[in-house]
Amino acid sequence: MPIRENIEYVNRLKADAARKCGRTGDDVLLVAVTKLHDVDEINEAIDCGITDIGENKVQEIVSKYDRVKPVRWHLIGHLQTNKVKYIIDKVAMIHSVDSLKLAEEIDKRAAQHGLTMDILIQVNSAMEESKFGITTEETGQLIQDILANCPNVRIRGLMCIAPFEDNPEDARVYFEEVRKLYDEYGKIQHPNLDFKYLSMGMSNDFEVAIEAGSNLIRVGTMIFGARDYSKKQGE
Ligand SMILES: *Cc1c(COP(=O)(O)O)cnc(C)c1O
Repeated sequence: MPIRENIEYVNRLKADAARKCGRTGDDVLLVAVTKLHDVDEINEAIDCGITDIGENKVQEIVSKYDRVKPVRWHLIGHLQTNKVKYIIDKVAMIHSVDSLKLAEEIDKRAAQHGLTMDILIQVNSAMEESKFGITTEETGQLIQDILANCPNVRIRGLMCIAPFEDNPEDARVYFEEVRKLYDEYGKIQHPNLDFKYLSMGMSNDFEVAIEAGSNLIRVGTMIFGARDYSKKQGE
């Protein structure tokens, strides 16, 4: 896989989409999603300028962590409460917070390490049964509950995984709904809320997501090629 060319291509499409709505490519952070890819491929991507990588399983972060060059790690997949302790000192941001219970565990572990953890709230605006995340209606309450109970957690924005659509245009409404919430809740004045990231868009839909307001895209397949799920390493 020509990783360098793929990254350049994604960066070009990202910049084009950003320009369409009066922004530049630099306004949109590219997180390279490295799940099921080898450490060698990840290090190659880092050599090509990737500064942020995303993994969706705790186990993969733990097993690769020491062999990957310095980079910011993002936990983008569902996180079980009992696994927070394994990644609390390894990741820069957790994108998948969808309950107070999980936020409280992150808060507790962050305190033990003397750090404040950046998190995003995962919103399932399409209300797909198969996906994690809270509904748009629940978002405001969860933000308030976290702000009231988790002093070692900083809410940096929202994350959304749109339903897979053959035509990515069909995902636009789900992105736009989360963008509205992002604009609304970003106005909250609180020391532990500082909205900076709207994490929306994957290989198949990131251009539409950027047009809808995303400023962080999570791209795997378009950089590294198709994943080999026979290499699955468990959670
Ligand atoms: C796998 C994954 C991605 C990347 O998906 P691609 O289609 O390979 O770009 C993005 N976000 C999450 C949460 C993922 O699990």
